[in-house]
Amino acid sequence: MRYSPERKPVITLAAGPVDSYPEVLSALSKTVLYDYDPAFQLFYERVVDKAQTAMRLSGKPVILHGEPVLGLEAAAASLITPADTVLNLASGVYGKGFGYWAKRYSPNLLEIEVPYNEAIDPQAVAAMLKKHPEISIISVCHHDTPSGTINPIDAIGALSAAHGAYLIVDAVSSFGGMKTHPEDCHADIYVTGPAKCLGAPPALTLLGVSERAWAKMKANKAAPFASMLSIVDWENAWSRDKPFPFTPSVADMNGLDAALDLYLGEGPENVWARHALTAKATRAGIAAMGLDLWAASEAVASPTCTAVKTPDGIDEAELRRLARERYGVVFSAGRADTLGKLTRIGHMGTTAHPIYAVTALAAYGGAASLLGRKVDIGKGIAAALAVIDAAA
Ligand SMILES: *Cc1c(COP(=O)(O)O)cnc(C)c1O
Repeated sequence: MRYSPERKPVITLAAGPVDSYPEVLSALSKTVLYDYDPAFQLFYERVVDKAQTAMRLSGKPVILHGEPVLGLEAAAASLITPADTVLNLASGVYGKGFGYWAKRYSPNLLEIEVPYNEAIDPQAVAAMLKKHPEISIISVCHHDTPSGTINPIDAIGALSAAHGAYLIVDAVSSFGGMKTHPEDCHADIYVTGPAKCLGAPPALTLLGVSERAWAKMKANKAAPFASMLSIVDWENAWSRDKPFPFTPSVADMNGLDAALDLYLGEGPENVWARHALTAKATRAGIAAMGLDLWAASEAVASPTCTAVKTPDGIDEAELRRLARERYGVVFSAGRADTLGKLTRIGHMGTTAHPIYAVTALAAYGGAASLLGRKVDIGKGIAAALAVIDAAA
C-alpha cells in the first residue's frame, strides 16, 4: 500500500473542500488582530467590499462565521414564517435537505422533486406557481454537489421575481467556479462560501441579501436575534464604525481576503473558463473509456464537479480506496441517496486546472481496471487532451 490512511494523499480531487491556494495558506498565518482594533475593523470593511465586487452585488454582503450550512439554516430561520408557503425544489440531497429546515418554520411546504441525475425544469416551476398563487418563498440548490448537476437558477429566479416570491439559493459549490451571482437570479438570500471554488478552507459563509429580504427578516418577530443563527445581527458588521455581534473568525478573514484577491486578480471569466474546461475534458475522457456520467445529459453536468456512475458490479467505496491507496488521489463518494451509485471528481479552485482531468481519469480508470472493469485508459486520456488542446 503506497499511500496508507496515515499518509497524506498526493492530490485531493474531492467535491470540496479542496486544498487552499498557497497565498491563502500564508494569509492564514498572519497576526491575529483584536476584533475591536481599528486596523481589523477597517480590514473587515475592505474584505466585505471585495466580496461585494466578486458577488457583483449592489448592497453589502454578509459574512457569517461558520460553514455555509450555518447560512442555509439561518436563511430558513430568518426568512420563513408560518404564514409563508414555501416551494422547495429538490434535484438532489442538498435541495431535498433544505425542505426539512423550511418545514421547521412553516407547515406549508410544497415540493418539486426530480430524479437526482436531472435538473429542475423551469416550466414545472411556472406551472406550480400558477396552481399555487399562495407560494411566497422558493428555495433551490444551484449545484447539488452530491449529484454533480446544475439547476437553471437564472430562469427559476426570473419566474420567482415575476410571481413576487422570495428566492433562497444555495450556490455554495458553484459560486466562483461558474457565472452565477445573486442578482443574476434575483436571489433574496444567496448562500455561498469560500471553501469550494474560491480555494480557502471551510469556515465562513458569504450571503447576498436583497433589500426586501432585510425588511422581511426584520419584520419577522420569530427570527433569531442575539444568536449564532441570526443574519440580522450582522447587518452592519461590515462598517468599521459598528461593533461585531460576536467575535469574527479573524484568521479565516485573512484567508478569505487572499482568496478574493486571487479570484478578482485572475479575472472571474478566466477562473470560470478553467473550471469549465477541466470538467469538459473529464467528461470526454469518461465517455472515451466507455464509462457513464451520472448526469442525465451533458447540459445539466456541473463545471465544478463531475459525477461518474458506478459501473455495474463495482464496489464504489473499494474503487475510491484503491485510487487513494495506490495512486494517492482522493475522490468523493455520493451522499445519502447517491452514496455508492457514483464517484465525484471535483474541479474546484486549486484543482480546476485541465491537467487534473488527466490525473483523475488515470486514477479512476486504473482503480476500475484493478477491480475487473477493463477500460481503455489511453483512450480516455487522449480524449481529455484533445479537449484541452482544442481550447488552447
Ligand atoms: C459544501 C456544500 C454546502 C456546505 O455544506 P457542508 O456540509 O458544510 O460542507 C452546502 N450546499 C452545497 C450544495 C454544498 O456543496
